[in-house]
Amino acid sequence: MRFEASPDEIVATAGDVLVLPVHPAEPLSPLPPVTAEIGAATGVDLRALVARRGLRRAGDHCWVPSAGGIACPDLLLVCVGGPDATDVTDVADLREAAMRCARLLDQPVVVCALDRVVTPGWDPTRVVVEAMAIGLYRFDRYRSADTGPGVERVVLPGSDPDVVHTAAVIGAATNFARDLTNTPAADLTPAAFAGICAEKASELGLGYRELGVAELEEGGFGGILGVGAGSANPPVLVCLESGDPAAPATALVGKGITFDSGGLTLKGSLDAIVTMKDDMGGAAAVLAALTAVRALGVDTHLRVYLPCAENALGPRSQRPGDVLRHRGGRTCEVVNPDAEGRLVLADALAYAREATPARIVDVATLTGSTGLGPDIWGIMGSSQSLVDALLRAGTATGDPGWQLPLWEGYRKNLRSEVADLRNHQADMSKFWNHKAIWAGLYLSEFVADTPWAHLDIAATVFRNRADDVWAAGATGTATRALIEFLRTERV
Ligand SMILES: [Zn+2]
Repeated sequence: MRFEASPDEIVATAGDVLVLPVHPAEPLSPLPPVTAEIGAATGVDLRALVARRGLRRAGDHCWVPSAGGIACPDLLLVCVGGPDATDVTDVADLREAAMRCARLLDQPVVVCALDRVVTPGWDPTRVVVEAMAIGLYRFDRYRSADTGPGVERVVLPGSDPDVVHTAAVIGAATNFARDLTNTPAADLTPAAFAGICAEKASELGLGYRELGVAELEEGGFGGILGVGAGSANPPVLVCLESGDPAAPATALVGKGITFDSGGLTLKGSLDAIVTMKDDMGGAAAVLAALTAVRALGVDTHLRVYLPCAENALGPRSQRPGDVLRHRGGRTCEVVNPDAEGRLVLADALAYAREATPARIVDVATLTGSTGLGPDIWGIMGSSQSLVDALLRAGTATGDPGWQLPLWEGYRKNLRSEVADLRNHQADMSKFWNHKAIWAGLYLSEFVADTPWAHLDIAATVFRNRADDVWAAGATGTATRALIEFLRTERV
């Protein structure tokens, strides 16, 4: 799928369908020139049509044959404003309209008219291209029947080619993270994931290193080894580097549990286990953001750490009560083998810190108990300015988060009777709703005084059902926020 700016006039741009944004206020106000021009060319009274079809909310739409007056045979009118909209479009409405519109399209060539959309402070081209790229996503590689090519090109007359390119790269990166996350765990083992990372590294000229079982044993990575012990697919820690090694670095850490069965504390229901191929969504977002930043030529020094393991049920699975030793020497009583994300992340964070980065951001499908629902990831951290920067970036790109406190009073829950820390407690009945904070506190034990932020994306990473905005499956959550953060919030 390609997005192209075009110098041609909208009415003269050839395609299969012309998408025309309209406002609900249009019946009452003068028609903008483009709408008037298209109305005149097609002989359709667009003002009356918008009123008659009741296009009022963002994404409301109707199809109209163009009767040959323009270079596309069909028009798709898409409302971009809420009921009170005037000629100014709210950016959230525009984004939703573009995503809903994309879900309606499967014609090979789509022409999109944007030169009359006004979103003060925002570039409508950027918003629409990102949203359409995400809305047009399909995951068809496991279907035996040909599902057709879908949309091959989206042409944007009058748009800035640089803006179109940047937004298309960001959209494609988000979809790359979705592809990785949607891939079944049988095909995306830790070794397979590392292989994809190695391919990207050679394609983009990135530094690449992987620590297999022998190196992990030698380096004392007891968390990654303990979690991976029960699987026939051995764990691996992937390290990537981009940019000037002498410059201050941002360290990015992504949880890469390629499947989470829960281990010996096996997940108790089909609902809880069926989507667990998504437990590497953090690593996918980090890898995708790295590739986008590199492709866009952002001059920043990144060190990336992706601890990859399969949390399986097997003869060597770690047992409740086992004690493991993290990178750096601290010990952990594994009360709950299903609280495995913090075990692999603790090793990776400790390792990341050894290289003295200026800041560390980790992204993880850690708990799903942020209480924020499927649209908003949770964030905690030791540096308020870093948390604020990530929140700003997420908001700017339609991939928002909300801050939770690292409540010190809960840190006592980490105390173990036998080890330095414990990863969980046996009785969670009274404590279920602060698991996200507790997990964040566990991670905070391994970053010392390095400015650090942690994104919990377990609730936003996957959608079980399709709706008129999202396809079913992985969402690529946090990818856009990370890219925007790295582009705009320098070390
Ligand atoms: Zn788990």
